[in-house]
Amino acid sequence: MESLSTTCVIAGGGPAGMMLGYLLARAGIDVTVLEKHADFLRDFRGDTVHPSTLQVMHELGLLDEFLKLPHAKIFGVGIDIGERHYRFGDLTHLPTACKFIAMMPQWDFLDFLARKARAFPNFHLLMQTEAKDLIAQGGKICGVLAAGPGGNVQIRAGLTVAADGRTSTLRAKSGLKVTELGAPFDVLWLRLPFRAGDPVDVVGRLKGGQMFVMLYRGDYWQCALVIPKGGHDAIRAQGLSRFKARLKEIAGFAADRVDEAITDFDQVKLLTVAVNRLEEWARPGLLCIGDAAHAMSPVGGVGINLAIQDAVATANILGPVLQQGVPKPADLKKVQKRRQFPTRVIQGFQLVVQNRFLSPMIGSGKTPNAPWFLKLFDAVPYLRRIPARMVGMGPRPEHVELGER
Ligand SMILES: Cc1cc2nc3c(=O)[nH]c(=O)nc-3n(C[C@H](O)[C@H](O)[C@H](O)COP(=O)(O)OP(=O)(O)OC[C@H]3O[C@@H](n4cnc5c(N)ncnc54)[C@H](O)[C@@H]3O)c2cc1C
Repeated sequence: MESLSTTCVIAGGGPAGMMLGYLLARAGIDVTVLEKHADFLRDFRGDTVHPSTLQVMHELGLLDEFLKLPHAKIFGVGIDIGERHYRFGDLTHLPTACKFIAMMPQWDFLDFLARKARAFPNFHLLMQTEAKDLIAQGGKICGVLAAGPGGNVQIRAGLTVAADGRTSTLRAKSGLKVTELGAPFDVLWLRLPFRAGDPVDVVGRLKGGQMFVMLYRGDYWQCALVIPKGGHDAIRAQGLSRFKARLKEIAGFAADRVDEAITDFDQVKLLTVAVNRLEEWARPGLLCIGDAAHAMSPVGGVGINLAIQDAVATANILGPVLQQGVPKPADLKKVQKRRQFPTRVIQGFQLVVQNRFLSPMIGSGKTPNAPWFLKLFDAVPYLRRIPARMVGMGPRPEHVELGER
């Protein structure tokens, strides 16, 4: 078996893993990122690059080049309930370099980070390489066993980071305890054509017991239909015509494109939603970050932001240690201490929205009444700054402290 050695091995080339890989490589630390897929071109990812992430790019001196990539700018956040639109977030007052969310396919964001990271000779990105197990020695994790295009590979490292997402293999192998917080719905993911004159803002719509979200992706709409947990089989059993009729009821201005775009259930992908978090994010030699530490609901579209913020905090706390040697368990605990609070606040908010508001509505056939706080934000524009801060920056925003070497 091939054997490699590195200072830090990161499993998962998503937002958390790629950002951490870039930050550590920039600081002169030898880092190896493993990504199980051959490229970043996958649909399940959200496309939101939040003001706090753009701020990080600004602090890294990458912002101007990054914003040359095609993107749409979202300055406000709103939702349609029945026939009425409610605005509840105004990003234009945020204390950040960019006062907007950049809507960009996530693969462009990850490709950009990979390209920048590859400029450092101490950065190694192994694509099509899947972390399968942890290597343990004397009660400490000292690397991973992975399967790559050339066969199995053993990668030894002073620090192993699990950034392999909400179905994390390394988290499962670690024995760390997961608390499930429950997710009462799943998401069906599909595409509808974009037509000249369509708005480019994120569209969120609640009507007749359905929730539909549309994300602008340049030449098409990436759409999410929220369904009750486990409801996918029943929808398929009812047949394609019934499903398309359902879509037309909620797709608004894009309803006339449903027939042409959806001709087979193969064009509709099921994404299972999980909301959970680890009690302990680390054990000696191993740290979990991003969704591997706390799987986020799509509610609010903030999971990517949190994953990136975890990466920045990890680099700030562990980068200086890795420059000298191997982090101790107490160093790893500092990352959890720093990031646990924002995670709990955001997941708490997601649980309230999904359990009190969305769950009773999805599948009920009824259009809900707007909750009082939505009406308040809509009526008092000044107050829209509060949700904007929550969505755009999140609690306890991180700043890049680890310098370049
Ligand atoms: C339906 C849905 C829609 C969402 N929409 C949004 C949104 O619009 N905005 C938002 O901010 N958040 C959204 N989220 C949440 C967001 O997707 C996650 O919170 C975020 O992607 C977490 O980033 P991550 O880097 O921790 O993990 P991931 O993005 O899951 O990345 C993990 C990476 O690891 C790789 N990998 C997995 N296992 C292995 C392995 N064993 N070895 C090597 N590589 C591996 C995967 O291929 C992947 O590239 C959504 C979530 C869902 C379920």
